[in-house]
Amino acid sequence: MSAGVAVGGVEAGVTEADLAELGVHRIPMPVPFPQAGGAVNAYLVEERDGRVLLVDAGLDTPEAHAALEAGFARLGRRLDEVSRILLTHGHIDHYGAARFVQERGSGAPVYAHPADVAKVAESGWRWREQVPLFVAHLARLGVPADAIAAQTREGERGFGLARRVAEVRPLEPGTVVETRALRLEVLHMPGHTPGLVCLYDRARRLLFSGDHLLERISPNPLIELGPDGRDGYFRPLLAYLDSLRRTRALDVDLVLPGHGRPFGGHRAVIDALLGFVEKRQARIRDVLRDGPHTAYEVSRALFPVARPGDGFLVVSETIGNLEVLEARGDVVREEAAGIFRHRLAG
Ligand SMILES: [Zn+2]
Ligand SMILES: [Zn+2]
Repeated sequence: MSAGVAVGGVEAGVTEADLAELGVHRIPMPVPFPQAGGAVNAYLVEERDGRVLLVDAGLDTPEAHAALEAGFARLGRRLDEVSRILLTHGHIDHYGAARFVQERGSGAPVYAHPADVAKVAESGWRWREQVPLFVAHLARLGVPADAIAAQTREGERGFGLARRVAEVRPLEPGTVVETRALRLEVLHMPGHTPGLVCLYDRARRLLFSGDHLLERISPNPLIELGPDGRDGYFRPLLAYLDSLRRTRALDVDLVLPGHGRPFGGHRAVIDALLGFVEKRQARIRDVLRDGPHTAYEVSRALFPVARPGDGFLVVSETIGNLEVLEARGDVVREEAAGIFRHRLAG
């Protein structure tokens, strides 16, 4: 390995230049919405039997299909050589084309963490079935009806860019996935979604991070409702902060993210994210100084220029932060006439 340094018989200091030798190849594919953070990466990983494993699959659009096929062709590979598809999480830009890969002759089984299976499997929750639950929940957060309507339209559009998979097998935390040169541990890192997993090669100090850790963007904590619309089913930012602390403790030389180029220095990236959350929380406490507010009102103060279609993202971001402040005892949530309002504690 070019930049490798032998430490106790284990190569350390893996850089992007070493990836091909480890049988890892990044294939970026276009994503037509800027919120995702640019092109999404699939990673082709060489298996011991000569076939290839795919980490994530991109969107189900002609442009993404073309990029995926071109990426395979560049490596002298074909989609029918895919042995298995591991999904880092159940977002459309990551699972969207899994079915396309299966249909191109691989028939490869698709794996995801049990908590995200419902987002990916045919039998899972449907966006349309969840809409009434989200509409009711957003109304409780103080979001006006026209903003809710704009958000549901945006949601419809997004889900046309992915196809569900007939069967999704569980990718259990603690499982070890062996490839030609890697030994990838499945680490559950809930936050960005309830079932996000990272794949970690402890000896090589490599981390496939999905959208858990990106170099330049803070992953959005998104509102998640339980199957019955239950609020508090999952508190994304609280879960995320805990996962970030666990990630910080890992020894990592190279992060292979879901968007953007591989990068090192994961602890500096995490510290910047934690600092960013602290600042946002200080700002929310300021907004609440003049009295109780709904999450929607707080989101308007934090993001005055957000597009109506981005309302879900900014309200999610706000409620995620309010849940952390509540857990710390800084903020109290009160309900009156079916609306949640938040006020400073004490
Ligand atoms: Zn995502
Ligand atoms: Zn993504």
